[in-house]
Amino acid sequence: MFDYLIVGAGFAGSVLAERLARGMNKRVLLIDRRNHIGGNAYDCYDAHGLLIHQYGPHIFHTNSEEIFRYLSRFTSWRQYQHRVRACVDGQLVPIPINLDTLNSLYGLGLTPAAMKDYLASVAEKRDTIKTSEDVVVSSVGRELYEKFFRGYTRKQWGLDPAELDAQVTARVPVRFNRDDRYFTDTYQAMPARGFTRMFENMLDHENIRILLQADYREVAQEVEYGELIFTGPIDEYFDYQYGPLPYRSLEFKHETHHRPVFQAAPVVNYPNEYAYTRITEFKYLTGQEHPLTSIVYEFPQAEGDPYYPIPRPDNAALYRQYHALAEATPEVHFVGRLATYRYYNMDQVVGQALTLFNKLSGQKRPARAVALA
Ligand code: FAD
Ligand code: UDP
Repeated sequence: MFDYLIVGAGFAGSVLAERLARGMNKRVLLIDRRNHIGGNAYDCYDAHGLLIHQYGPHIFHTNSEEIFRYLSRFTSWRQYQHRVRACVDGQLVPIPINLDTLNSLYGLGLTPAAMKDYLASVAEKRDTIKTSEDVVVSSVGRELYEKFFRGYTRKQWGLDPAELDAQVTARVPVRFNRDDRYFTDTYQAMPARGFTRMFENMLDHENIRILLQADYREVAQEVEYGELIFTGPIDEYFDYQYGPLPYRSLEFKHETHHRPVFQAAPVVNYPNEYAYTRITEFKYLTGQEHPLTSIVYEFPQAEGDPYYPIPRPDNAALYRQYHALAEATPEVHFVGRLATYRYYNMDQVVGQALTLFNKLSGQKRPARAVALA
């Protein structure tokens, strides 16, 4: 008899398993249909001994001291500032667009003030910013939008930026200086021995039992448990009764090359050429020294494992119908990127899980102030 059955061993499920076991002495059965823990953040060593991220590049970044401190209980860190280049007009230039991006692309010597004036002259006025197209054309104008965003977004999502909520491209800022970091969060780091090792430490507790290659439908028949925490797709839980929620999928093509370095940056984006969106070279992320190097290509797909909720108004409306069913099912807790249909980063999922834990344990404080003792 378990106090909790937790479906999904990614960030959402693993944080809750850890907190319920260590913080409340609950007995937890944590299951995943995959053959490993860690969800999409899973990393492992490939046949050549290179540490790779099986489901694409995962870089930890957060502004929350509490979330960073919480995860620091289970890992030490390698400081890492992520950098991305976009292949545009035959050049590799910084993305987010910054001063160097414009100066390289157009052969100019703009100052920050001149860059502001230039973008103000090409930006298109929008009364309201609703879509991902609005966000970009209202800040950098149509030409840069077409060079950097339109093609990439159409490939990644199978939709035009005008069909996606503003939040999608708003993740990528514009900078009027030479800062070429992808993120500017206070904490940016990689778990020193990888994400999977961090999850192993998190879940190493006598009250936590882990069952892999186990689907919720099969397990739920077989075991006795008190409450259910579900981190898989919410539409699947409710048997798609309002129809399937669209999720975008990816196919990952991993390759190992017999040379120490493959490309000039940790990630290179290809907005306008090829069927893939980007290539990641893992050694930059992990800091591993090795005579060979491993990379991954990401090919967006309509079908396949669900990776991205697709932020657009009709999908939000469909999700609200499922959310209403969830509200009417208080003995089941839905948490995580798939179960709450939110385009969340890892730290946001950790925050969401800690908030649910506080609710379950009767603490009133928000996750930001979660007790770390
Ligand atoms: P998941 O990690 O998806 O875990 C859910 C688990 O539930 C899965 O393992 C699944 O197998 C299991 N499951 C589902 N249904 C069932 C069932 N019926 N029975 C049993 N098991 C089930 N975030 C960042 O902060 N930085 C990044 O750089 C970053 N890069 C990303 C790159 C890619 C390509 C992708 C796809 C995501 C990236 N993210 C990144 C987001 C990050 O992956 C998520 O925020 C995080 O992993 C979500 O955790 P989760 O527990 O909600 O979901
Ligand atoms: N984007 C783009 N061109 C780029 C980088 C990003 O058009 O060079 C858009 C695209 O729609 C992408 C979104 O901005 O899906 C968010 O980018 P991010 O790198 O945050 O995507 P993720 O890492 O979540 O796949």
